[in-house]
This record gives sequence, structure tokens and C-alpha cells, in this order.
Amino acid sequence: MVSYKLVFMTPYKQPQRHYRRFERRPASPTSQGGPASPASGSAHSASGLTHAGGLTRQRPQPQAIIRRDFRPSSLPRQQAGLLPAQTGQKIVRRDLDKTLRIIPLGGVEEVGRNMTVVEYQDDIIIIDMGLQFPEEDMPGIDYIIPNVKYLQGKEKNIRGVIITHAHYDHIGAIPHLIPKLGNPPIYSADLTLAIIRKRLEEYKTYPIKLEAHIINKDSKLKLGAFNVEFFGVSHNVPASFGVIVRTPAGIVLHTGDFKIDERSPIAGVTELDKLSRISREKPLLLMADSTNAREIGKQASELDIMTDIEEIVKSAKGRLIFGTFSSLLGRLNEIIQVGARHGKKIIIEGRSMKINVEIAKQLGYITIPKNTVIPVEEMKRYPDDKIMVLATGAQGEDRAVLMRIANREHRFIEPEPGDTFVFSSSVIPGNERTVQRLTDKLYREGIEVINYRMMDIHAGGHAKQEDLKKMIETVQPKFFMPIEGNHSFLRIHAKVAKRAGYDDKNILVADNGQVVACKDGVCALTKERVPTDYVFVDGLGVGDVGQVVIRDRQMLAEDGIFVVIAVVDSKTGKVKGSPDIISRGFIYLRESKDLLQQVRKRIRDIVDRSAPPGQETVNWAYVRDNIREQIGQFLYSKTQRRPMVLPVVIEV
Ligand SMILES: [Zn+2]
Repeated sequence: MVSYKLVFMTPYKQPQRHYRRFERRPASPTSQGGPASPASGSAHSASGLTHAGGLTRQRPQPQAIIRRDFRPSSLPRQQAGLLPAQTGQKIVRRDLDKTLRIIPLGGVEEVGRNMTVVEYQDDIIIIDMGLQFPEEDMPGIDYIIPNVKYLQGKEKNIRGVIITHAHYDHIGAIPHLIPKLGNPPIYSADLTLAIIRKRLEEYKTYPIKLEAHIINKDSKLKLGAFNVEFFGVSHNVPASFGVIVRTPAGIVLHTGDFKIDERSPIAGVTELDKLSRISREKPLLLMADSTNAREIGKQASELDIMTDIEEIVKSAKGRLIFGTFSSLLGRLNEIIQVGARHGKKIIIEGRSMKINVEIAKQLGYITIPKNTVIPVEEMKRYPDDKIMVLATGAQGEDRAVLMRIANREHRFIEPEPGDTFVFSSSVIPGNERTVQRLTDKLYREGIEVINYRMMDIHAGGHAKQEDLKKMIETVQPKFFMPIEGNHSFLRIHAKVAKRAGYDDKNILVADNGQVVACKDGVCALTKERVPTDYVFVDGLGVGDVGQVVIRDRQMLAEDGIFVVIAVVDSKTGKVKGSPDIISRGFIYLRESKDLLQQVRKRIRDIVDRSAPPGQETVNWAYVRDNIREQIGQFLYSKTQRRPMVLPVVIEV
């Protein structure tokens, strides 16, 4: 294998290498617009709804207007802008800043980690709480969650968390952040909450109290200063919605993830009627999904996809194995109906697929015709052309069903010539190579593979440019803010807004943590930034793996480690015997005797020079630094590699 290496002009100076930027922009300490007042009377406990553990089907009651008993605090009340009235029971607000603050804590510099804070005085609502999958240069990291430092000390102000839909980039951080934020109530659709609850069950190590409220697209909530409504959207998980927030500063809309499919309700319907009604109220700001902003035209309709899938099902001569996402529940439902129409027996394989289908069935999002779904053990009782498998792993995930079948590690399903594998989901950027490997494997087995490139069997869940333009034109907000995507996606989305007639000054492209302030009918980007540094989740650790640890891992992964152990006589200042060398991932020691000899000699020289005899106290840290630097430089000059050099000096 050809590997190429960047050569650096600077001498051995480890950390600054070709690693991607990990230092984020310095986050300026936040000066809060609204004073950090001790909000009185938590909204959460006041709602009279069930607490803890279970989800509740109760419709949330309109929340009482929140400020009630003023609790004394250490904050000078004048400074906080709050004064208890004579009765001592009521708060009189004085001179509070009337600015509405919108802060994307994540999701505007990447796809994932979606979380938006909407804040007015001492009321906060949060929209979504997602995770981001790690990049290739973050070894060992499971995922990344939003940084909530800004909300520390403001937990009492959080009136609610609204979750737009059940995808992990919108719900994945809930188990980690909800306890940290003082267990604020969560509002979402039945299906979304059921999937969240399943996810929480994976965190048995620390029980999480979840106050969950089921809402639907027609619900209305009062959360502190905000009146919240919703609008249904078409997306590839059912029960997705966007959010309409009526704030004292104006109406703010957040689309969540959406697409527009005017020909089919399979993936849900984006309620354009409702949105055009809202447009008459002159909304202040629209935040909209940019995930597919790079794609021209309109998103494909589920109708065409189903026509293609029906064709595949009809013409398959052998077994049909569909790989897809377990969250594509609308699509899965349709595939099951198509299969049933053609007399197929359907096997559902993969843990997450089984769980999600079961949840969706219970809540009525999927109907399974009688005698259609069979357990995998019964597969052999039916002819091959009657068998259809719905499986996880269309991204080439290692342990998922498709890969296990391809590797002949599946207990019941062995690949056979004549099988047709259908990849009915687009490949997430970064997974192309593993999917290619999986495809190659299947072809080797004589299997037919149909992927979304060959036939249009995957409509993404996100609006393309013409759909995005339609959204902006329907809502007609005064200000437009693209969200959910890398910076370039947002910029392209901004161009779409310009095509819809918007001026630059009415388009706000924010960075993670950048505060958007709205006051007197005008929204603007501010210079204020709240912390958004990565918070890594690695196993059970949250935030304990920092950028230093990641850099070490990168270094170890690239060139290995080189440990030098020198025993030094403190009287003479000389190395005793021959220094020990341990190395992993750097060179094969047995074949590098020469190099090691030279290293040992150099270590002795370095120690001699750094700790001359007769010197009263030897600065051993200085000796170690010298070994690290000089041995590092020497190894680089001999090998063009930069292993992590770890000197251990033992004084005897
Ligand atoms: Zn989504």
C-alpha cells in the first residue's frame, strides 16, 4: 500500500500537525441579554402531569403564567431587574431587555448535533437535542453532543424542550443532557417519545427522570413567555413536525427536518396551508433545514419510489433482501404493504428494526397484514421467491444484518445466487467505502445488488432547492436563517432565499453558538458567542475525553508510541546500563537493532549533557524534555515518522 506523508519543515514539535482544527473559536464569556434571574416557580412541577419514567398520554395543560413566588437569591434584585412587590409574592418586571435571543448550540456548522435555544428574558425553550457522529480523525469517539455550558445556572428558566422528530441527530443527546439541565419537560409526538424512551432504556447505569408530554401537530402550548404551535412536515420518519413560536418579539418558525411531497402522503404532509395562514401574521423569522440545499430541483416523491419498489418486488426471481434505515418507518410500512400484495412472507431482521416496527405498529404508524410477517426460523418453509427480508445495515455497518449475511455470519440467512439485495437508503457521506466493500462481497456471491443510484428507490428526507424556495415563499418571514447543515450548505440555502427576493441584510447565516438577537422587528447576528466546544461521548464517559486526549489518539494511530526508560545514577548523573525501549505501532524493533543502538547512545549523551556530575540538584523534568525532543527529532530524521516519545527517567 502506498502511504504518503506530509513532511514538515519545523523540527520535532509534536502537536501542531496536519490534524484538523480542534481548537474552536475562543468562546467569549457570555454576557447575557436578559439578566440571569432566579426564575421563580418552576414551570415543570406546576403542570400537574405525570413525572418520571413513563410517558404520559395526557394533553399538556396550558401552563400557568410562570412567575409566581419570588425566591430570594444572592443576586441583587435591582440588578436582576426583578423586584418583589409589596406582597412579597409577585414579581414586578422593570427595564428588562426586550430582546429575543436565538442561539444555535449546534447544527449550523455540521449535519447533526441540532439544538437551538430560544430565550426571552428569563424564559427559555429548546428545540431538539441531537448528536453528531464523529469524524474519521476522532478515534474511539462514539459521538458528539451539544455543549450546554451556556445553560448552566439557567436550568430554572428552561420551560420545555421540543423535539421535532425521532432521528438521532435530533434526539441523541437527550440521555446525556436532560439530567444536566434539571430534567425540563419534553414535548413531542407519541412515536418520537416512544423511541426516546427506548433509547433511555439503554442507559440503565444512571436512571433518567423524563417528564414527557405527548403533543401533535395541532397542539398548542404555553411555555413561559412563548406560545408554541406546530405544523406537520413530510420527512422520512413519521410524526415529524416544525415549530411555530409566538414570542413577545414576533413569530419564529423552525422547520426541523422536512421535505415537500405534494403527490404522496407516505412520508407525511408538509402543512403548507397552515404555513400560508401564519404568513398573514407577518412572521419575524424562519429557520429552515439546509441538509439538501446543495441539490437542485425538487425531492423525489415517495410515489415514484414505491412504483420502483413494486417493480422490483414483482420481478424478483429469488429472495429479496431490503437494506434500509430502521427509522424509515413510512417507507417500511409501504414496503410491507407491497410485499403483502404480492404474497410475500416478510422477515424483519435487526434489533433496531424490530424495536421500531413494533413501536410504530403499537402506535398505528404501521399496519401489518395478517400472516405476512414470519419469524426467520420459518423461512425455509417457503419458496425463495416468496421471501422478503427487511434488514438493517444499508450503510455497511459492521454488526448490522446485511454485513452479517454477506460475511456468512448470520444464523439463518446465507447469501445465495439468485438473491436480490436492495439498498433503499442513500449512503451517508463517509460510509461510501464500507458500502462499496459490502457490495463487492455480495457480487462475489453471485447476488444481484440494486442501489439507489441505479434506480430511484430512495427519496431523501430533505427538501431540495425548489422545495426550500417554496417554503420561504409560503412563510414569507421578514428574516430568514438557514440551519441544519455545514456552513457551505447554509450559504447555498441563503442564495435560494435571495432568489426568493430576500436581501442580504434579511438573511442570517450564524455559526454554532452565535447569538441572533431580535428586537423591535429586526433580527441581527451579534458578536456574542456562547461556548460550543465539542463534548465527546466515549463509552460511559461524557466530556472527559478532551481535545488533548484526541490528539494523543491521533498521534498514536498515525505513528505509534516509543517509550524510553533510562535508569540514572543520581550520584554520577550517568545512565546505568542500557536504556530500555518499548515501542508499539512505530517500527518492528527486532529488525531495527541499529537504530535502537543509536537511540540508546543518544539517550546516554543527552542525560550526560543535561545532568552534569557535581550538580547539586538535577532538573529531571528538563532531562525528560530533552530526551523527548531530541529523540523525537532523531527518529524523524531516520524514519520520517513522528511517534509519540514517552521518556521515563528513574533515579536511583
Ligand atoms: Zn431527520
